[in-house]
Amino acid sequence: MNTQVFEALLSPWTLALLGLCIGSFLNVVIHRLPLMLERGWKLDSADMLGVKVDVPAEITLSTPRSRCPSCGHAISWHENIPVLSYLWLGGKCSACKTRISARYPFFEITTAALFAAVAWRFGAQASTLAWCAFAATLVALAGIDWDTTLLPDSLTLPLLWAGLIAAAMGLTVPLSAAVWGAVAGYLSLWSVYWLFKLATGKEGMGQGDFKLLAALGAWLGVSMVLPVVLGASIIGAIVGIGMKLNSKLREGRYVPFGPFLAGSGLAVLLIGAPRILDWLGWA
Ligand SMILES: [Zn+2]
Repeated sequence: MNTQVFEALLSPWTLALLGLCIGSFLNVVIHRLPLMLERGWKLDSADMLGVKVDVPAEITLSTPRSRCPSCGHAISWHENIPVLSYLWLGGKCSACKTRISARYPFFEITTAALFAAVAWRFGAQASTLAWCAFAATLVALAGIDWDTTLLPDSLTLPLLWAGLIAAAMGLTVPLSAAVWGAVAGYLSLWSVYWLFKLATGKEGMGQGDFKLLAALGAWLGVSMVLPVVLGASIIGAIVGIGMKLNSKLREGRYVPFGPFLAGSGLAVLLIGAPRILDWLGWA
């Protein structure tokens, strides 16, 4: 491809626009994937137990069309343009005037900002697209974990494999750093989980957290596993204290760790491994 065309396609501006559209799709994934999984689990369990259960109508990521949760108004294409439609509609449903959640533009703008930051940091090369896919998957996982305290295998495991493949293709870190990163990521949280469980008899974190940190290790390399965990713990503690002060901490539910792991992984990616190793005095 012509170099100038390639550079224009992978410029921060173009990727920010792509990020808005992908962010709009991620809103659908964050909302629907947990519903799809729950329906599947119910049907599987009923099948195994040989009983009948009532399940909601089948949904996929593309069907049925999006509707207003209050009045059922079908959302047309021009009400579905990332951010612009939200502003144009004044943040309200065009039919019943119920407020549209600000999380829709939030996830769109977040994804756009991440894509632009990746393009700015890595420039016009193939690895930029790989890192955008990495960032988009983390946004989806963070949103789903925040809502449901689930980190679906259908996202964490492909992210882990993609990290190993991207390393093997020479797009990210050396392959051995990726493989050991996945191992270290999984085993570190697995050991914390068992120590906590043996000491307190309680489950302190979800098993999805091990798989997510394994995926982050595969993408960022073994030397970044500890910085990611430290970063996630610091952000998590700050948010946890903030929520406690605001008495928003949900009763009987633990604060999900996945959004902080994802946020910390993205911060490590954008700050850059050499700088972090330098700070830690490991370089
Ligand atoms: Zn409505």
